[in-house]
Amino acid sequence: MMKSIVCQQPGELQFLESTKPKPKAGEVLLKIRAIGVCGTDIHAYGGNQPFFTYPRVLGHELSGEIAELGEGVDLPLGKAAYVIPYLECGECVACRVGKTNCCTDIEVIGVHRDGGMCEYLCLPASHVVLTEGVPFDQLAVVECLAIGAHAVRRGDVNANDTVMVLGAGPIGLGAAQFAKVAGAKTFVADVNDDRLAFASRELDIDATVDCKGDVKAQLEQLTDGDFPTVIIDCTGNPGAMQSTFGWLAHGGTLVFVSVVKADISFNDPEFHKRETTLKGSRNATKEDFEHVVNCLANGSAKSTSMVTHKTSFSDFPAIFPEWVKPETGVVKAVIELN
Ligand SMILES: [Zn+2]
Ligand SMILES: [Zn+2]
Repeated sequence: MMKSIVCQQPGELQFLESTKPKPKAGEVLLKIRAIGVCGTDIHAYGGNQPFFTYPRVLGHELSGEIAELGEGVDLPLGKAAYVIPYLECGECVACRVGKTNCCTDIEVIGVHRDGGMCEYLCLPASHVVLTEGVPFDQLAVVECLAIGAHAVRRGDVNANDTVMVLGAGPIGLGAAQFAKVAGAKTFVADVNDDRLAFASRELDIDATVDCKGDVKAQLEQLTDGDFPTVIIDCTGNPGAMQSTFGWLAHGGTLVFVSVVKADISFNDPEFHKRETTLKGSRNATKEDFEHVVNCLANGSAKSTSMVTHKTSFSDFPAIFPEWVKPETGVVKAVIELN
């Protein structure tokens, strides 16, 4: 038998006992050891995640040990692994060119199908990646960091760039770290003073930008009038996204990681005179996950610089209602299992 935490309906998490699943051909049974709690989980719990159906086992930021193998899978039992939670069709126009992160038919574990807030989970062996030298709690936030790393890759960031990451939540903090890894001068911008203080304390960034003030003036001063060559938006705020068109260096690139249910418009002369490149950035690919794990292993990125809260599997349902309140100050939380 095993336990799962089921989100029965918005605001209600419940323990459920079920039989331990058996891996089918091509699958691995993973004994879950750590689960990152994501904004998606918070929105699903809060009932403001569109297209979400209940009951659902949440959790897509996962690490664990290989516990059992399905037919045709050859992996070492007991070894540590992390999960790539995006299941792609493998055949669509995006998949055919390796852009599995924006598959037309993508299915995310813990969103579209039951996820990892449980003791054991069957997963396709192709999406379970063995790794050494990174503890389980850090492996559980690899997915979150990979989204930031992917955004930096979308921005083609290099050492000549000045990058502004807009929004100092977990995704933004991840993007800022990988912009630094790429050698860029990096600013983090937010409206929230606590988040800015957290970012400058925990990360090796070059400056913070206070979005309550005159952003354009601050950027002009920080860059000697050049403005950031890459702006990565992680705000989820249509107004902020719209403003980025006027904050960018000539010849620069905007990367939108946030998705908002809104139309974003821009002034064409402003867009044109800069020869602006505008890119979306969705999820991450295996390449990004591997980059993140390498950076964690060699110390150039830290998962600890965003994990502010931890709990055990058994305590999670009771503690979670506290953590969704903004005043608790959760940047990133991790659930640990023995
Ligand atoms: Zn996530
Ligand atoms: Zn596809």
